[in-house]
Amino acid sequence: MKTVNTVLGPLETSKIGFTLMHDHIMGSASGIPQVYPELLGKDYKKRIIKGLTAAKKAGINTIVDADTFDLGRAVKILAEVSQSSGVNIVCCSGWFGELPGYLGSFSSDQYAQIFAREVKEGIEGTNIKAGILKSAADFGGITPNGAILLRGVARAQLMTGVPIMLHSYSPDQIGRQQIAILKEEGVDLRRVKLDHSTDTKDMEYLTWIIEQGCYLGMDRLPGIHVPPLARVSPEGRIKTIKDLIDAGYANRILLGHDAFLVSSFFDTLPDDAKKKLETDNPYGFFYINKVVLPKLREMGVSEKIIKSICIDNPRRFFEGTSE
Ligand SMILES: [Zn+2]
Repeated sequence: MKTVNTVLGPLETSKIGFTLMHDHIMGSASGIPQVYPELLGKDYKKRIIKGLTAAKKAGINTIVDADTFDLGRAVKILAEVSQSSGVNIVCCSGWFGELPGYLGSFSSDQYAQIFAREVKEGIEGTNIKAGILKSAADFGGITPNGAILLRGVARAQLMTGVPIMLHSYSPDQIGRQQIAILKEEGVDLRRVKLDHSTDTKDMEYLTWIIEQGCYLGMDRLPGIHVPPLARVSPEGRIKTIKDLIDAGYANRILLGHDAFLVSSFFDTLPDDAKKKLETDNPYGFFYINKVVLPKLREMGVSEKIIKSICIDNPRRFFEGTSE
């Protein structure tokens, strides 16, 4: 029996169901939900439970929460909202942003140890275990600290066997640098997904990633259209998914929105950018169900393929199988 770690314990992969593979339940910064919850806005927990309960009702069975420790991951709260809503939540270990200067300089092996502990033993003194590892590189490529962290994630993958999700900046093909490091570390690339791959329409690059063995995280639906991320329209993103299906790669696509149910981030944006985010995606976690899947059906994608992308691919990704 194969299982995936969720915040409520191991879940049989056969029961994973319709899965959002990259979304954020409460994105902020390390310690915010536990110490300064008011920065997440009024009744934030109630709003999360309301959103997740609606998601469950709409058929969303599992969510991979992309909030690492430095994005404000709070596993006890995740367990509480999973219990209340019935949505399975897979939480992640690893690191998203730059290391704060006051953290000192730890080695990749030291990071690998703590990330692996979060998968094998638990997080914050609980027995809640991470089901996936995350690393990130954005504009400008992998930074020196980013490389230390990515190697830490790679080594934790080898120690634990759980898959890796990579935040990546696809317009500049940053995935090539990330994949090169993972190859050096000996990670099986079939256990890796390159996220935010909807930010490019470059089929040559996308098929190259698939040929390396990786999955494509076709999240950012409809996209975060705040400069400089406005390169691909919502329709363009769906068209790329269709092109990948037509090219025979339906079994390598993993869907998500990269949306935030509750967050402190967007408070810092100017009002017009905030408004634009809302008008671009009025559906939040339901955009795939309400817009993307109907559009794919309209374009001629069969129900069988849609089910396979939304349910079988997440299962296969966590199992590390191709069947
Ligand atoms: Zn994200």
